[in-house]
Parts: sequence; structure tokens; C-alpha cells
Amino acid sequence: MKKKLTLPVQILIALLLGIGVGIVCYAAGLGSFTKDYLKPFGDIFVNLLKFIVVPVVLFSMIEGILSMGDMKKVGAVGWKTVAYFMVTTAIACVIGLALASVFNGAGLFPTLSAAGVTYEASEFSGFMSVLVSIFPSNMWKAFSDANMLQVIVIALFFGGSILAAGEKGRLCRDIVSSFYAVIDRLMAFIIRLSPIGVFTYMAWVVATQGAEILGSLALVILCAYLGYALHAIIVYSTAVKVFSGIGPLAFFKGAFAAMMFAFTSTSSAATLPVSKECAEQLGADRDIAAFVLPLGATINMDGTAIYQCVAAVFLAACAGMHLTLGQMVTIVLTATLSSIGTAGTPGAGMIMLTMVLTALNIPVDYIGLIVAVDRLFDMGRTCMNVTGDISCSICVTRWERKNFRR
Ligand code: ASP
Repeated sequence: MKKKLTLPVQILIALLLGIGVGIVCYAAGLGSFTKDYLKPFGDIFVNLLKFIVVPVVLFSMIEGILSMGDMKKVGAVGWKTVAYFMVTTAIACVIGLALASVFNGAGLFPTLSAAGVTYEASEFSGFMSVLVSIFPSNMWKAFSDANMLQVIVIALFFGGSILAAGEKGRLCRDIVSSFYAVIDRLMAFIIRLSPIGVFTYMAWVVATQGAEILGSLALVILCAYLGYALHAIIVYSTAVKVFSGIGPLAFFKGAFAAMMFAFTSTSSAATLPVSKECAEQLGADRDIAAFVLPLGATINMDGTAIYQCVAAVFLAACAGMHLTLGQMVTIVLTATLSSIGTAGTPGAGMIMLTMVLTALNIPVDYIGLIVAVDRLFDMGRTCMNVTGDISCSICVTRWERKNFRR
């Protein structure tokens, strides 16, 4: 009997094929061919994921809350989740900052001139208005804008209210369960297409941006990737081992499909369906994963935090600044906050980098120096963002269930 290849194996093959085809197309000068004829298939796939992401977040969170049975339990899961996110993100910032300082101190970062580069930054409206904007005034607008924080707030209110309504809320409860079952099938179907997305995106990135890896920013990119790898190896491996007993190899093997999908799609939100599958297979409780993962894909961005620290140190050096201890603390604080505010969509972390630069008084135009290679940074940081969410769902499951078993 022929054995069917598992999804992670299919994704690995797609990734390698994509790299191979990308190199050939790059050598043959067919970069625009990959952009015009291969990337669109990846875009179709990502569009499919994006179109289900709002219902996935909404129904999976409500379903998670309903299965937990009472808001006390939701609160317990909630604070543990947020505590895990905050601690790991702060460590990520320290790792990113330390590595970047070592690279910078050793003179490994190039000093580029920002003369002539421009970058149009969007205005930040301040903390209080950000807080207000989390609460939707129009539910449908939150859905149509795919404003994930607002969708999460809606899910929390609805989930809590259905529970509070008791027997009278039974119909709503059944509707949510039924919708969720359908969305689950839909996700499973779309995920089966993920090797196509991985292959086409990889071929396009290698054919059009592969040369950048060898360009002047090579060492800055390397520094960020070292940070991502260290964070994964030190923080996630230790956390899952200590709290759930899962060894690092088994963890990364289990998370592989989501990591690779995040790497190529550069969107944590679009990777959600894949992360859910990986987390559940690694032993995360279904309700807890349904709650933790959408929240993580919206506010937990350790890879982004590392990238923002590395980029801030590099751009500060380009601006001729020598960072004081106080400025380093500023980087850690602002990178933690701005990574929380970063949406799980491609390139969002670079937009939020403006917040860190502004706090350091570095002109945001300096972002123009790294904008061309942002996708290369983004691939690694999204991969880490998603890995962090999966590790959190496993740890929280272990904290909530005394008899955790894979
Ligand atoms: N692309 C990242 C994500 O979706 C966010 C970022 O740009 O840092 O997780």
C-alpha cells in the first residue's frame, strides 16, 4: 500500500522545490516570471486563509470560552496566557538587543547613509486612543476590516453572554458549535493546499530577493536570524520541556508545518488554521488552543520584537548614535509594546518600528534603508511569532490540566 506523505513532509518538499526553482529562475533572469505567474497562486491560497480568518478567530474563541464553561476559567487561562506572552517578549527584546550590540560593537554592521531615502510613516494616535479603538462601535466593521483585536473583544463578550444566558442561550451555543464544525472542515481543506502556497512563495522570494541575502545588509539579516534561533532554542525549548515534558526535537517537529507556513506566508493570522492543527497534535487542549492561538496571532510577536531591537540598533548606528543604557531600556520597552500592537499581517512589524525609532529620536526615514529586505526579516520573525503562540498553548494546557498527556 502506498503511504501518503504527511503535511510537514509535503511542506518540506515544497519548500526545497521552491528554493530550487527560485535559484534556477534567478540565474535565468526569470524573476518577473515568478512574480507574474507563480506568486499569484500563493496569493490565492493566502486569500483563502484570510477570508476564513475572521470566522476562525470569532467562532474558535467563542467555542473555547463555551467549552471552558465559566468565565473564571477563561480568566485563569487568559492571565496565564498574557503573562507567558509578556515574559517571552521581554526576553526576546533582551536577546535581540544584546546580539545587535555585539554585532555593532564588533563593527559588523555596515554604516549606510540615509541621505535621499524616505519613508512615509503613519501617525500614532497615542495610548488612550489605541485603548479606545480596541472596543468596536460597529461589529460588522470590525469583521470587514478584519480588525483582530476588536474581533477578540466581540468573541469575549459574546462567549461570556452566552454562558450567562444559560438555558435560554442554548440555540446560540448550538449555532456556534455547528459553525465551528463547518469552519474546521473548511480549514482542513484549505490547509491541504498549503504546499502550493509554500512552493510558489518560496520560488518567488528566492528568484526576486535571493541576491539581497548576499548584499550589504547580509550581516544585519544574519544577526536577526541568530536572535530568532537563540530565542527558539533557549526560551521555547526550555518552556515546553520544563512545563510539558516535550523535548525540543519533538516540539519543533510538531510545529514544523506551521513554522514553514508562517515563514513563507509572513502572516501569523493567515497561519492560524495550521498552528491550531500543530498545537493540538502536540497535546494542546482544543479549547485552550482555540483561545490562546488567535490571541497570540494578534498580540504575541516575539520575532517582531527581536527584529525591532536589531533594526533599531542598526539604524541608530547609521544615524551616528551611541546608545546609552537609558536608550537601550527605551528600546526594550517600546519594542515590547509595539510588537504587541503589530498586526499578524505581512510587513506590519516594520510599520510599528516607527514607534521605536520615534522614541529614540531617529528620523523614521531611516526605515527606507531596510525596507527593500523587509520580507527577508519578516519570514523569520513570523516563523518565531507563530512558534511562540504554539509553545504558549502547550504550556497553558499543562498549567490547567494536571494530567497532561500527548
Ligand atoms: N508578519 C508578522 C506576523 O504576521 C508581523 C510582522 O510584520 O512583524 O506575525
